[in-house]
Amino acid sequence: MSRRAASILVSSVSDAAGQQRPVTPAIVQTTTFVMDDALNEAMARGDYRSQFLYTRMGNPTVDALQRRVAELHGAEDGVATASGMGAVSAALFGLTSPGTTVIADRQLYGVTAGFLRRYLEPAGRRVEFVDLGAAAELTAALQRAPGATWVLGETISNPLVRVLDIAAVAATAHAHGARLLVDNTFAGPLVCRPLEHGADVVLESLSKSFAGHSDVHGGALVGSRADMELCWQAMLHFGACLDPHASWLIQRGSRTLKVRTDVACQNAGRVARFLESHPAVLRVWYPGLQAASLPQGLLSDFGSMLSFSVIGGDERALRVLDALQVVVPATSLGGVESLVSLPFNTSHRTPEAQAMIGLLPGTIRLSVGIEDVQDLMDDLDSALRTSA
Ligand code: PLP
Repeated sequence: MSRRAASILVSSVSDAAGQQRPVTPAIVQTTTFVMDDALNEAMARGDYRSQFLYTRMGNPTVDALQRRVAELHGAEDGVATASGMGAVSAALFGLTSPGTTVIADRQLYGVTAGFLRRYLEPAGRRVEFVDLGAAAELTAALQRAPGATWVLGETISNPLVRVLDIAAVAATAHAHGARLLVDNTFAGPLVCRPLEHGADVVLESLSKSFAGHSDVHGGALVGSRADMELCWQAMLHFGACLDPHASWLIQRGSRTLKVRTDVACQNAGRVARFLESHPAVLRVWYPGLQAASLPQGLLSDFGSMLSFSVIGGDERALRVLDALQVVVPATSLGGVESLVSLPFNTSHRTPEAQAMIGLLPGTIRLSVGIEDVQDLMDDLDSALRTSA
């Protein structure tokens, strides 16, 4: 029976044999596994993925999580990683080789953009940044690319929440023999399932809404078995493996993802409209405010992330963060608590990084949580007024 996302998330993941099965998964906290005949035979075949040999390569608690993420995305296979950046690095090294071109969106998480420049380019990959929202720019870059090519973008970009037309970008990439890798961190599997719209591989930081409580790091990649084999190889060589205990915490958090997502998205819509009409606010970026211009059928909700810029620039933005009482000034996102951060001193610190995404002075990124929405609006209103 095929199950819907809310049922997948709350379902018991225990596969333990025996008369009294636990409802929740066991934490198999071991680095290694006793050799037996099945393991020896698998190793003789060179098959190191179907059996558990060593936790950096595979572990039952981690396996349960990666199967769950793959099922949520309708993917054949999945690989869990130590963090979202573990997934970024495993994908970008595992799926490419020297000479491969990576065409990356300019609207990209600053650390991912930095990773492309500092590590992928020196390793012989061609890296080009384009505006994936401009079809002509993408087509020109694809035509320039000499061979194997991956296109990289974010479903909802960090921090300016630009929504990627995944179906259009995938169609253009595929028409030129290229493939599409999508970072779905800001959306999560309940808001968008990029594989259904033509993406080839999807990555997510599970440290965010998936785990949902700002207390654990993790990441995941999903896609075809062949692509996941390549990502798994890179993950285990980099040592970006997820710990079993972290994996268990992520699964525990994810069981409430549906209700958290519903409330956080609803709160974000209310807060975005409130900020839009606030006299101290210059501009608000939230997908729900431009619903009519979004790609049809891509998002099932508008997400819980928004950004806004205040009159008075970065100095005032810093004062706003200082004055908040309910919303917490901290980086990261997707937790039950609302968090604010300033892209200019976190994810996009350099003038080049700011110019690349077109960051306006005074821009504040807000991850909306599940608090009472009136408390959030009152807190923002009071902080905006006292910061004048
Ligand atoms: N991708 C995006 C869009 C992010 O915002 C982040 C972190 O903020 C990451 C990847 C990296 O995730 P992690 O912090 O779990 O490594």
